[in-house]
Amino acid sequence: MSRSVLVTGGNRGLGLAIARALAETGDKVAITYRTGEPPKELADLGCLAVKCDITDPEQVEQAYKEIEDANGRVTVLVANAGITRDQLLLRMSEEDFTSVVDTNLTGTFRVVKRAAKGMLRARTGRIVLISSVVGLKGSAGQTNYSAAKAGLIGFGRSVARELASRNITCNIVAPGFIDTDMTRALEEEVRADIVRQIPLARYGGAEDVAAAVRFLASEEAAYITGAVIPVDGGLGMGH
Ligand code: NDP
Repeated sequence: MSRSVLVTGGNRGLGLAIARALAETGDKVAITYRTGEPPKELADLGCLAVKCDITDPEQVEQAYKEIEDANGRVTVLVANAGITRDQLLLRMSEEDFTSVVDTNLTGTFRVVKRAAKGMLRARTGRIVLISSVVGLKGSAGQTNYSAAKAGLIGFGRSVARELASRNITCNIVAPGFIDTDMTRALEEEVRADIVRQIPLARYGGAEDVAAAVRFLASEEAAYITGAVIPVDGGLGMGH
């Protein structure tokens, strides 16, 4: 049966690859985007694109209404939207810190809470949160981002415990360094240094993350909840 899926931040990067992978399995996929226009590929895949800034609770509610009217109750949610604002601790402004937490962690809370309503009624659901290897390892210059991404693990595991009795799973994917706009913004020297630390000695592709998400959203993953799945070429091994 075709499910109603929502991928936040699905207009580019990991979100776009995840939307593509789920649309290819026959799901009815909606994505949210915040700025610009979504790529034409999404329309070709039959995906619904809805404008929504996840830092605004009203926009989140409006987006869900639009998606539910078109595709029915969301039973698969991939909370992917996120930002970085890197800075060393002593130079990090209050705004740099809170905006990253508000998007990556509180924004995820907003979309998960709203999705859970429908999933509880449907008595089925799959929630996948996109965290990061740096939420486990920490990262110099990313106190804001790593705190938010670590927060997603506690949040996701609590959601998993709360909703498990209703056949709703919640899992966390922790990507390492994946080749997207976010990591292309890093200086060449930093990128090369990162590759030296990755056992598989390369950046991952967005489709590597999408494959893990597609599995966690599938029937085959029915007995997996509260798990943190690394997709990081071995970078975070041991955590
Ligand atoms: P990109 O920067 O390429 O894309 C980020 C997406 O999030 C965009 O669609 C963006 O929308 C959306 N977004 C950002 N802020 C908001 C907001 N306030 N409301 C709604 N949407 C928003 O990042 P990636 O694809 O690389 O990353 C996707 C996720 O994966 C993020 O959570 C990131 O932290 C995580 N991640 C990425 C890694 C990597 O190596 N690339 C590694 C580990 C984790 P818009 O286009 O409008 O800006």
